[in-house]
Amino acid sequence: MIMGKTILVLGGGIGGIRTAREINKMIGNDEDATLAKILVFEKEKASLFAPSLTWMMVGRRETYDIQDDLSKIELSGIEVVYGDIESVDPESISVVSNGKSYKGDYMVVSLGTEQADYKGLSKAGHNFYTSEGAKNFHKKLLRFKKGRIAIVVSTMPFKSPVAPYEASMLVDSYLRENDIREHSDVTLFSPEKTPMSFAGKEVSENIKSLLESKDITYCPEHELEAAEPGKLTFKNNGETKETSFDLIAYTPHHECPAVIKEAGLVGSSGWVEVNEKTLSTKFKNVYAIGDITNIQLSDDESLPKAGVFAQYQASVVANNIVKDIHGKEADKEFEAKGKYILEQGDGKASSIGGNFYSADLEIKESSAIQHWVKILQEKSWFAKNF
Ligand SMILES: Cc1cc2nc3c(=O)[nH]c(=O)nc-3n(C[C@H](O)[C@H](O)[C@H](O)COP(=O)(O)OP(=O)(O)OC[C@H]3O[C@@H](n4cnc5c(N)ncnc54)[C@H](O)[C@@H]3O)c2cc1C
Repeated sequence: MIMGKTILVLGGGIGGIRTAREINKMIGNDEDATLAKILVFEKEKASLFAPSLTWMMVGRRETYDIQDDLSKIELSGIEVVYGDIESVDPESISVVSNGKSYKGDYMVVSLGTEQADYKGLSKAGHNFYTSEGAKNFHKKLLRFKKGRIAIVVSTMPFKSPVAPYEASMLVDSYLRENDIREHSDVTLFSPEKTPMSFAGKEVSENIKSLLESKDITYCPEHELEAAEPGKLTFKNNGETKETSFDLIAYTPHHECPAVIKEAGLVGSSGWVEVNEKTLSTKFKNVYAIGDITNIQLSDDESLPKAGVFAQYQASVVANNIVKDIHGKEADKEFEAKGKYILEQGDGKASSIGGNFYSADLEIKESSAIQHWVKILQEKSWFAKNF
């Protein structure tokens, strides 16, 4: 007879929801008794599907289309504990939330990234990594008739390496549809050397050509120095450049959540270092998945922070925890294979994927099918989980 185990899942975002669901599905029941209690710790009541935010920027989604009530994941065996996680002790596998301490047998950390303002950007533009920012950007876009639009990457690393490229191409497409493209320009500033360098030269060159074909000015190696309404200052190759803009959307600065830094789970990268195959941390029965982790691909490149990987890692960890509870060997490994879809506007998209460890990724030619695949991914996320 297996004794019921408690699994603490920190974060009810993409990785956390997938972990809880998979464990619940695989664990099985014993004479109607659930063999595991899964506690999901989450501060937000509404669960947002962030990959759809770029559509929201151009008015293709409303808030209610891309979020749902997290309580819908509560089933027999899954319980959500709402509130800010106040502290985490990986040694004793325990968490404090709302002043109450919870102890578990396993812990899966999936708290994502903490967003922060950078050099005053929050006063100059719209953070399209939040639903409020994406929505406010769209409101301004509705009134935009001519002028200059900037998409700015605050700092590296940032989650979803495709998002700023996708944002600039969707904005371009919106301007064309509304016959204002010839009275406007779109510029993308990034500290990156080249688009998605971890994906290899072919993918990078392909994205640069795409931007060029759409007349989007791409400014790589631009470090933001200062931002104020209507004005951005960058450092590029030792030179200071000042430019003015009418409308600005930006990716925020990303950090590992403070509560996890304080828990001693963070390595020299500033993120949680895990075993790249099992996602285990240095603490027994404590795993970390998704955006909060750092997996080094080479000396200079890390695995991108993306929902596809958070989900893949969740399924590996869930499987291995269930096997362990049943007294069996862990038999699943994370292989860093995957693909994600880059929306390009005009109802087209292309997929970028392959084995991320070999940096030998492929970009599929842009097509309407990939655009529909991206829509299907969004719909199936909600259909499967809520
Ligand atoms: C604009 C945009 C576009 C994107 N596009 C894509 C795409 O096309 N493809 C793709 O694969 N990925 C995409 N992503 C990335 C994807 O959303 C993330 O990689 C994914 O959500 C990571 O999952 P996670 O579980 O690690 O973190 P998250 O989904 O961010 O979940 C973390 C959860 O932890 C909670 N939390 C944090 N701190 C605390 C605390 N102290 N107490 C309680 N709760 C806490 C948060 O509220 C959050 O719900 C995109 C992201 C953005 C912003």
